[in-house]
Amino acid sequence: MRGSGAEKNSADIIVVGGGGAALAAAGEAARLGARVILVEKNRLLGGSTGLAVGLMMAAGTRIQRQAGIADTPRHYDAELTRIASDQGIAGNAELRWLLARNAGDTVDFLESIGVDFIGPFEQPPFKVKRYHQALLDGRAYVHYLHRHCNALGVEIRLRTHAKRLLLTGARVTGVEVVWPHGNVAQLTARAGVILATGDFSANHELRARFVGQDPHAVGAYNPTASGDGHLMALEIGAAIAPQPDLGPKIGTIAFARIAGTHSLFDLLPYSVLTPMMKFGSRILPQPWLRPFIIRAALADLPIESAFYEEGAILINRNGERFADERHVSCNDVAEQPEGQAFIAFDQRVATLFSSWPRFVSAAPGVVYAYVDDFRRARRDLYITADSVRSLAARLDVPGSRLERTIASRSASSAPLAQPPYYALGPLSAKVRHIPIGVTVNSRLQVLRPSGEAIAGLFAAGDVGQGGFAGPTHGQSLAWAMTSGRLAGRYATEELGAQDARRP
Ligand SMILES: Cc1cc2nc3c(=O)[nH]c(=O)nc-3n(C[C@H](O)[C@H](O)[C@H](O)COP(=O)(O)OP(=O)(O)OC[C@H]3O[C@@H](n4cnc5c(N)ncnc54)[C@H](O)[C@@H]3O)c2cc1C
Repeated sequence: MRGSGAEKNSADIIVVGGGGAALAAAGEAARLGARVILVEKNRLLGGSTGLAVGLMMAAGTRIQRQAGIADTPRHYDAELTRIASDQGIAGNAELRWLLARNAGDTVDFLESIGVDFIGPFEQPPFKVKRYHQALLDGRAYVHYLHRHCNALGVEIRLRTHAKRLLLTGARVTGVEVVWPHGNVAQLTARAGVILATGDFSANHELRARFVGQDPHAVGAYNPTASGDGHLMALEIGAAIAPQPDLGPKIGTIAFARIAGTHSLFDLLPYSVLTPMMKFGSRILPQPWLRPFIIRAALADLPIESAFYEEGAILINRNGERFADERHVSCNDVAEQPEGQAFIAFDQRVATLFSSWPRFVSAAPGVVYAYVDDFRRARRDLYITADSVRSLAARLDVPGSRLERTIASRSASSAPLAQPPYYALGPLSAKVRHIPIGVTVNSRLQVLRPSGEAIAGLFAAGDVGQGGFAGPTHGQSLAWAMTSGRLAGRYATEELGAQDARRP
């Protein structure tokens, strides 16, 4: 720890946030010689990065080459552009290329600091295998980036809440923060401030303002994703690129995450467990890893509509159906008692969805989950009973109501009449991630509505997504850590060659 007072509270670069983008930015700036303070409002680092499944899409990686996959950033960019346009996403070509060009290097870098990946897997509609899965999930990025930052001397201050940006003239020169015990302090930055505060999925005002048709009843996976960086940047004149067409699409209906520990994952250090798993994946590929991946991934995967078409129904805690399952919306689920639903079905449906090509849920190319996978990997989501009455008792829903619900379904072309009976759940609706950030240029400088850069202010990750929108899963983490590293690099360049070197 250096001196005291003003000196203690000044650095070359202040990074606001403690997720993937912030840690990548801080580590890169420190590696290039900058003195960095990182402030994180929560008690722990991680943010949404620590909750993520951990899939990253990248082209031209060492892992791809080792697997004999020929791929280039140009090819990836062309596919991204085509798929985004097919999905009606305008996006930002400059930022898309920035991601395509640098994401491969990010995966190589993450590997070099200890992250173990499996894959690459395919992700339709992409034609090339570019999906890299960190073992076991997004916490691996936080763990290894944190270790990397510590080794490079980044000063990490937890429970330190950034409240507003400080200006000297038109230049951002620091951040006002509130310490854990409520004292206010000003941190000054010689070269610049990097905002890496994540998204605003937990902020209904920002959702209503920038998303349009906000599914109001639907909460956020990450309840601390309050859009602070967006608000701080807006306050000093930054622009935000809205995506009004996103609307109700921002939510997902998914199973609960595993409560409590991740068993082995929490008992053994990463440096022991993940190489063991990686080795295991080489000698016993899918079967060995399957339960682990399913445990990590099930909370994030959509339910196949075929499961409903063949007879499975959605019920609430009153034992009633509440929507046409094929068109159920996040709001439909969020408005049910306790905001929860269960999928109910009988042995006929369970048998149908016990093997390829009928699966309950999937991350295509990575993992396909059948009914029995829930019994093996997620017992907390799997309920079975010999009769509808006893299923109701186990679910704690009114027995006569559930009997009526199942009986009325049994009059249809997809009857639920064959015991034993099953339920999977609870399911709830949550907003995982909102890809709307302040506008940035390709040097990750934050822009005013006029397009002019705000001196001294950079943004990375979700808050710095302005204009870039990845059309599929896997681009958000890639963007977070790629834009973070680049922002750290560009902010350090502001110091000038001489200042950027530590004595
Ligand atoms: C359940 C889930 C699964 C996902 N799975 C995937 C996946 O597999 N692949 C993928 O590409 N994407 C995935 N995503 C999206 C991805 O996780 C995010 O896009 C990415 O992690 C964003 O990184 P970030 O660093 O920008 O933000 P975060 O990781 O959210 O970090 C922001 C940090 O800033 C801190 N902060 C905020 N405000 C302040 C303040 N005022 N002062 C100090 N600190 C502050 C927060 O506490 C937080 O720690 C998933 C998201 C969720 C929720």
